[in-house]
Amino acid sequence: MTPHVEPDPQAGAAVKAADRAHVFHSWSAQGMIDPLAVAGAEGSYFWDYDGNRYLDFTSGLVYTNIGYQHPRVVAAIQEQAAKLTTFAPAFAIDVRSEAARLIAERTPGDLDKIFFTNGGAEAVENAVRMARLHTGRHKVLSAFRSYHGATSTAINLTGDPRRWASDTGSAGVVRFWAPFLYRSPFYATTEEQECERALAHLEDTIAFEGPATIAAIILETVPGTAGIMTPPPGYLAGVREICDRYGIVFVLDEVMAGFGRTGKWFAAEHFDVVPDLLTFAKGVNSGYVPLGGVAISAEIAATFDKRPYPGGLTYSGHPLACAAAVATIQVMEDEKTVEHAARIGETVLGPGLRELAERHPSVGEVRGLGVFWALDLVKNKETREPLVPYNAAGEANAPMAAFGAAAKKHGLWPFINMNRTHAVPACNVSEAEVKEGLAALDAALGVADEHT
Ligand code: PMP
Repeated sequence: MTPHVEPDPQAGAAVKAADRAHVFHSWSAQGMIDPLAVAGAEGSYFWDYDGNRYLDFTSGLVYTNIGYQHPRVVAAIQEQAAKLTTFAPAFAIDVRSEAARLIAERTPGDLDKIFFTNGGAEAVENAVRMARLHTGRHKVLSAFRSYHGATSTAINLTGDPRRWASDTGSAGVVRFWAPFLYRSPFYATTEEQECERALAHLEDTIAFEGPATIAAIILETVPGTAGIMTPPPGYLAGVREICDRYGIVFVLDEVMAGFGRTGKWFAAEHFDVVPDLLTFAKGVNSGYVPLGGVAISAEIAATFDKRPYPGGLTYSGHPLACAAAVATIQVMEDEKTVEHAARIGETVLGPGLRELAERHPSVGEVRGLGVFWALDLVKNKETREPLVPYNAAGEANAPMAAFGAAAKKHGLWPFINMNRTHAVPACNVSEAEVKEGLAALDAALGVADEHT
């Protein structure tokens, strides 16, 4: 894959200057950032105006599950734009119902009704609203080491430092510890212990909060941004059982883990669990047009059969977004993308990352599945002390910054969060691309090793 444009540094400088003049960026000190000016993207790659090409091991924000500019999805968006660009959500539109059908057929169990949103946070907001109205209760339990979005309730539910500055201490959000054996909150040394203690801790949390006040428990099926911690066998089934026992709505957030990322359509399939509500976004249409949603169980959908659902969005089920979803799902079926993600993870990406961990003192743990992997970087493999302190910034974060710069120098755009790098390429990444990414990571980890 080569850039389709000739290098044009002057044009790049102009794009950057215009950005600096008027664009206010997410999560950033506006005066401290220097965003790369991107000239184009295709498949697993993007390139800048200086002629540098990068292999995208971030899939954007973990959403371009079929890569950039897939011609069938681009064509579907163009055809829909020519036919009916937009129409309000209260009407029945062919492409909207087709997207809902294709999604409902792939979500587990009886999650057969789809409420469309514009992204993940809105999906979480609406899942919480549905759970509260369905149960008549108000509290929601969420995990530390989680991310659920940046809108009001979603950021409150989030269990990482991005919450700190905007946390209103919103009534009803209670956080608990979910399992994470490598840095076990329960001092466990085996997966069985971790699972058992995590479930006991959740039971205690519920007992002390008051079961009859708890509307929902929300978990990422496999927590993403917080570190790709695959839950131990039995944990999610245990949470399901606890929810059933207390009449609590079980919400699985698959905004990041859904649509092939883990080598299944939805990660819940790995654990044989069916939540009451499942949130999705990102990979549903490879992020080509903003789309998210909530897949709703028959029981919760029935709550709103005779009683109105008091929530809605102007662009709910936007035809362009739905056309992109229909085309993306068809592409993933035709190209067997989900099976490919499972296979490449099992045979090339996972083994390749484990091999890197053996050779590099800075890699403490490799964990993941499908095309959803994290390298936990450490100062010391024995003590597991993270390569940088929790929530490090500036000088304290220098080792991770040096790692990132080295990866980019070797043509790899890395995902970096705290002391971790995540290998999250497109689900249709080729074997050659994975090998190229592993070679770049190998070189960049050499730089991280200098800080151990
Ligand atoms: N939930 C999870 C698990 C996510 O990873 C994200 C986004 N990274 C969100 C919710 C929020 O999605 P959005 O940014 O589309 O609002």
